[in-house]
Amino acid sequence: MADERCLFCDIVAGRLPATLVHEDDEVLAFRDIAPRAPVHVLVIPRRHLVSVMDFGEDDAPLLSRMFAAIREVARREGVADTGFRVVSNAGRNGGQTVGHLHFHVLGGRFMTWPPG
Ligand code: AMP
Repeated sequence: MADERCLFCDIVAGRLPATLVHEDDEVLAFRDIAPRAPVHVLVIPRRHLVSVMDFGEDDAPLLSRMFAAIREVARREGVADTGFRVVSNAGRNGGQTVGHLHFHVLGGRFMTWPPG
C-alpha cells in the first residue's frame, strides 16, 4: 500500500516528476536526482516496502522482477559490459535516506571498494 508521506510513492503515483528509464506493472526505474556516477538509476517496487528487510517469502517474484529491471537498465544505459554496481542502503547505519526500498544502479566509471 502507498505511504502518503513517501517521496517515491509520490513518483509512483505521478505526483512528483522523475526521469523514467524503465517501468512495468510492478517496478519503476528513474534517474537519481543527485547522481554519484555518470549512470545512477534507482530501481523501486511500485508497492511501498521500506527496505530489503520488508521482503517476505511471497516476494520472490517481485525480487526477480526487480533484478530483471536492473539488467534492463544496465543494458539500456550501456554499462552491462563495462560493469556496474547495485546497492541497497538499509536503515540509519546503511545510510538510507528515503524509506522506500530502492536499488541504486551505478556505473560509467570505476567504482572504488569498499564504499565509505
Ligand atoms: P538512499 O540514500 O540510499 O536512501 O538513496 C536515496 C536516493 O534518492 C539518493 O541518492 C537521492 O539523491 C535520491 N533522490 C531523492 N529524491 C529524489 C527524487 N525526487 N528523484 C530522484 N532521486 C531522488
